[in-house]
Amino acid sequence: DPEFDNLLAMVDDAVRRAPHQDAIRYFDGRMSLAELDAAADALAAALQQRGFAAGDRLALFSQNHPAFVIGMLAAWKAGGVAVSVNPMYKQRELRHLLQDSGARVLLCLDEVHEVAADVLAGAGHEVEIVISSAGRDFQTRDDPRVLPDRDPAALPGAVGLTDLLARHAGQRPAPVRAAHPDDPAFLVYTSGTTGEPKGACLSHANLVFNARSYREWMELSPPDAILAIAPLFHITGLVGHGVLSLLVPAPLVLGHRFNAEVMVDLIREHRPVFTVGAITAFTAMVGGPGVGPDDFASLTKVYSGGAPIPPSVADKVESVLGAYVHNAYGLTETSSITHLVPPQRRAPVDPESGALSIGVPIASVRARIVDGAGDEVPLGEVGELAIAGPQVAEGYWGRPDATAASFPGGELRTGDVGFMDSDGWFYLVDRLKDVIIASGYKVWPREVEDVLYSHPAVREAAVVGVPDEYRGETVHAFVSLQPDAVVTEAALVAHCRERMAAYKYPRAIAFVDELPKTASGKILRRELRGGRA
Ligand code: ATP
Repeated sequence: DPEFDNLLAMVDDAVRRAPHQDAIRYFDGRMSLAELDAAADALAAALQQRGFAAGDRLALFSQNHPAFVIGMLAAWKAGGVAVSVNPMYKQRELRHLLQDSGARVLLCLDEVHEVAADVLAGAGHEVEIVISSAGRDFQTRDDPRVLPDRDPAALPGAVGLTDLLARHAGQRPAPVRAAHPDDPAFLVYTSGTTGEPKGACLSHANLVFNARSYREWMELSPPDAILAIAPLFHITGLVGHGVLSLLVPAPLVLGHRFNAEVMVDLIREHRPVFTVGAITAFTAMVGGPGVGPDDFASLTKVYSGGAPIPPSVADKVESVLGAYVHNAYGLTETSSITHLVPPQRRAPVDPESGALSIGVPIASVRARIVDGAGDEVPLGEVGELAIAGPQVAEGYWGRPDATAASFPGGELRTGDVGFMDSDGWFYLVDRLKDVIIASGYKVWPREVEDVLYSHPAVREAAVVGVPDEYRGETVHAFVSLQPDAVVTEAALVAHCRERMAAYKYPRAIAFVDELPKTASGKILRRELRGGRA
């Protein structure tokens, strides 16, 4: 295989090798690699003719829809940088992202017109070109699974994507300087789990490297299909679905937004072999009525990343999915994965903390456990995970201070606390920022959550610290229950109390229907800290 250091060379190669293979399947819509390439050429030409120049940013405000992939490729073909925007964003968040990235083009789906129109009407952005796609574009019939079905608000000044593609059909962009491996290709904003999202500046080499990491570990080859359960705007979906599908090349099955029933339907229909997403997504998919291992038979390579896997949940999911869910660890700043549980292995569980290993570092990753001064701690001791390697971003877009703080000497301080065992397996204790200090003792929410999950009535759990006059902070939990399960707060507290030191067990537990989550399925402890259990 040729070693690509540039995303366009990678895509060109895929188009040459398999022009007629499906690149994208969006419900019953199909787009071959040659068709996708031609659409991206037409859009790139259209953008250039409207003044889009090399280095300019194109923001994608979209669910998992073909417009996302076409827009991303067009940005690269015109020498520009793609930027993804969480389609759940409201005005304030979109404004911040457009301002921060300085995007000149906004490509959005009609379902976000209202938010986009408000922000575009105001100041504080540099958007000059607005393109819109209907959710139902690129389909051959109305499929009720494509949501939502309501009249979109008007978006002044927007041009329709399908119109633009028709008008520029057959055109190719004017040649631009070939991208250098270190040129930025994508700004991906962090999830904002711990603070304001920052734009990780990912280069061509960063993204190609990690798409290749996925392909090699998963041993994917055409025409294996990939199901996108993670959103493309998030790093897991972007690299583990989008870029990877173009490298293999593999048909990419898109289902707009995550909906457990729709995803199971798409699995039955398209027989994908690989997917990666937060464990909460798998919990939802296996929880449907009448769903069993037969539905998932094609999925032989299943990974969960982006959030911790409580060991008891891994077992519950495996029993319905029929496949072992491998742990994968990574961040936006590392172009997705840096650690994986190898395909033929099961993650060991740390006997002391009960944590499931996040795996071993993938090739070329240099992972260290360091103290506050950046010095490596002795083997087995707990410290901050620091990572260097070819998939690590150079920094945050336009933020030299944040970059210097998080990437000293080019090595990323992850903000995750963990340790390595003598066999080289890594374990995460939790996120540095989520630690609870109760009566002077450190409590790591994840450990308490794992114990809650081990109770049969518990579906999902989140543990946070709340201010307490006497203890400084005290441990509170939020829990959603399995369908039809009944349990009292006192019984759950007792379950925890029997299994952990007195300073750790939750003093109060609130029952909720759903825990707040990011669009990529990460449980948002930050939002729970406001409301007391
Ligand atoms: P922000 O930096 O804005 O708070 P974020 O860190 O949540 O957002 P992401 O890049 O989406 O943004 O998430 C990376 C984090 O997700 C890691 O630092 C880690 O805490 C967590 N994570 C990722 N994979 C795993 C895993 N397999 N097990 C446990 N935690 C994981």
